[in-house]
Amino acid sequence: MGTKGNKRRTLAEAFASLAAEFPLAKGSVADTHSPCARKGCRLCASGKGHAKTIFTYREGGKLRGLYVRPKHAGLLREAVDNGRILERLLAKSGRDLVMSLREADAD
Ligand SMILES: [Zn+2]
Repeated sequence: MGTKGNKRRTLAEAFASLAAEFPLAKGSVADTHSPCARKGCRLCASGKGHAKTIFTYREGGKLRGLYVRPKHAGLLREAVDNGRILERLLAKSGRDLVMSLREADAD
């Protein structure tokens, strides 16, 4: 894997350390309201319904969704925000790579 026999971490290993330090996710977190199955529920009768948080993401092109427990919602939003920062950094990294390769060629 590594060149010249030195032990290099794989990209997946490096990413795992990053993910251990920062919550990371790609997708979106949305708050919705939906009725429950209980008969005579006051919240549902009032039309308010029950607050639910859903995390949606793509897996192999398919849109998937998971309910998020209220106590986990904050962390998940933070993870999605971090994911967006990571995407911006990744885009910048490609641009920087092309520019530095050009500079190296100029010599
Ligand atoms: Zn209800």
